[in-house]
Amino acid sequence: MIVPIDKVKGVGEATAKLLAQIGINTALDLVENVPRAYNDYSEITPVAKIRPGMVTLKVTINSAVGRYVRRGMHVTEAIASDKTGSVKLVWFNQPYRAAGIKPASDYFVTGEFAYRRGRVSIVSPAVELVSDFPLNTARIVPIYRERKGLKSAQLRRHIKAAFDVQKLDETLPSWLVKQNGLIDRHQALLTMHFPETIKSLSGAKRRLGFEEVFELTLASLLNKKENNQEHSLPIPFKEDLARKFVAKLPFKLTDAQRRVIWQSYLDLARDTPMNRLVEGDVGSGKTVVAVMVALMVMEQGFQVALMAPTELLARQHAASLYKLLKSVGRESEVGLLVGSLGSKAKAEAHKQINAGNIRLVVGTNALIQDKVDMHNLGLVIVDEQHRFGVETRKKLQAKAGRMPHVLHMTATPIPRSLALTLYGELDISVIDELPAGRKPIITKIINSESLEKLCGDIDKQLSAGRQAFFVCPIISEGPDAKLWSAEKLHERLSKTYFKHRRVGLLHGRLQTVDKEAIMSDFVDGKYDVLIATTVIEVGVDVPNATVMVVVGAERFGLAQIHQLRGRVGRSEHQAHCYLVPSNPSAPNHRLEVLTYTSDGFKLAEYDLELRGPGAIYGTAQHGALDLRVAKLTDTKLIAEARRCAQEFIKRGEDLLQYKELAERVNRLRAITNLN
Ligand code: ADP
Ligand code: MG
Repeated sequence: MIVPIDKVKGVGEATAKLLAQIGINTALDLVENVPRAYNDYSEITPVAKIRPGMVTLKVTINSAVGRYVRRGMHVTEAIASDKTGSVKLVWFNQPYRAAGIKPASDYFVTGEFAYRRGRVSIVSPAVELVSDFPLNTARIVPIYRERKGLKSAQLRRHIKAAFDVQKLDETLPSWLVKQNGLIDRHQALLTMHFPETIKSLSGAKRRLGFEEVFELTLASLLNKKENNQEHSLPIPFKEDLARKFVAKLPFKLTDAQRRVIWQSYLDLARDTPMNRLVEGDVGSGKTVVAVMVALMVMEQGFQVALMAPTELLARQHAASLYKLLKSVGRESEVGLLVGSLGSKAKAEAHKQINAGNIRLVVGTNALIQDKVDMHNLGLVIVDEQHRFGVETRKKLQAKAGRMPHVLHMTATPIPRSLALTLYGELDISVIDELPAGRKPIITKIINSESLEKLCGDIDKQLSAGRQAFFVCPIISEGPDAKLWSAEKLHERLSKTYFKHRRVGLLHGRLQTVDKEAIMSDFVDGKYDVLIATTVIEVGVDVPNATVMVVVGAERFGLAQIHQLRGRVGRSEHQAHCYLVPSNPSAPNHRLEVLTYTSDGFKLAEYDLELRGPGAIYGTAQHGALDLRVAKLTDTKLIAEARRCAQEFIKRGEDLLQYKELAERVNRLRAITNLN
């Protein structure tokens, strides 16, 4: 039952608009907006026993008086008393306060008892009539995520009112609720917002977390089931072809590469489409894996499309695929199709693709959206592209006439618990080994006050012909002046330490064509230094760059910094990564991990524990990642919920029997799958 937000008492038009901006559109959304933390103000202290800090009192207030003590400074004062004594309450610049106090009434008061402006008092307390239902005092008070100016106190009010109009039925099958000893949905949500004890929260969190993971897993299992009902053309494994190719490689494949290639070959040989994710740290050699998988498909006369997130990456891929395929005399089958090609070149590429002369087409995702007429598309390889959901797959299917095999590649180390929950419908292979002989990138934490010395050191590298990246957390000056923006740093460095150098500036507010032009100029050595935001994060190869400076480093996830530093260290020269925290005096144990660990997965696990899944993907939005309650580190709960999702399918349950569950799961089905 959908109850529109304006049916919630106290929510007017303006508030409804604000709520909509944080994704709350119905009474149910309000109720499902669970707190991020709690303050326990349930213990009442007698006035005589007050100590400095937060206190909650049950007192009588006789009256409150407000006055201007000087221009622009208003003070409201009241005396609060119980049997044991009296204490002064003070509010600054809240002239409406006095009128809000009902004379000679009993109140709950929660606030900070402190010594300020020469006297002891409780400063800016929350007060609520004892006869009312206390929301902000005298209970375990929930704290919500405060966005768009919506404060917790206001949300508490609306959520309370939402419970009055929203009926909360059980959404999960009853066998599942019983089997796992879950409390019911209504009780769980009520407890989240109005816990009577801290202990009661654990049952509520377990119930809601369970439901979350169950729904997510069910969504991906159903997606997987659907995928397995599709038919694709089996691609047989040709051993001699694989051997011939491997023999010509200038290096020996790592065991991990072999294993992943073999897993993919097994997928190809089936008559259901491959849907595999290959995870491999930066530099683990995903390209050669892609090529070997592609080769088998091309051999059968099918076309392969490789999609990269940017044109520059597409060009780099095309160049390396060309080189790799040259060894077996098939380089002429590689073609590039990107927006910036001239119209003549584009027409020619279209023609060759359509005729099937180009067997391996490399481009951006425009490849599959354009009017490109594929010739027997058999395999799609998606590189570093998180936004590749069900919709895109449907388009591919339409283009190919049937679901092609799909191989996703990513350098984002996704911890296993996260991968299982979010990408359960994908088969996952991990390249967990780097080619031998890689020099680790030397990583150091640098005090921002030592910038001059650092730039001096970097300048020596530049003199030797190397290049350097600086990555900043923001583009331009924000309200937080302590943070260096890319624009500010660019201005500063190009006027001082790197006056004599060519310094480029790259950020997400530039037009795509400009971004790509700047990046490719940097690749071509037209800049010595590039000041950027995280737009450089994805896969670009600049072998000549040996220095990566991350400014405001505490703002980044560890896995994200790890990916950034993967941009350097791709040549025989020793590479360095310098982390510059904004606040030089604050110790940063989290960043220190980067100085001695180069294992992307370990760093991601660490991120996950410390900062949640969002940190792994940086700031990029990830629909399904927005887990409200479940902790991905809670492996036991995840395993149980996953098992139940499997059982749901095994029992042959009809999802449509559960109307609300079906709605929720179908919504998730659309956003999971590497969305
Ligand atoms: P990524 O996984 O980051 O995409 P690439 O595929 O670009 O990595 O590979 C990085 C570099 O390592 C390339 O220069 C590639 O030729 C080289 N390489 C790949 N596999 C091996 C290997 N087994 N031994 C040595 N070098 C390798
Ligand atoms: Mg790559």
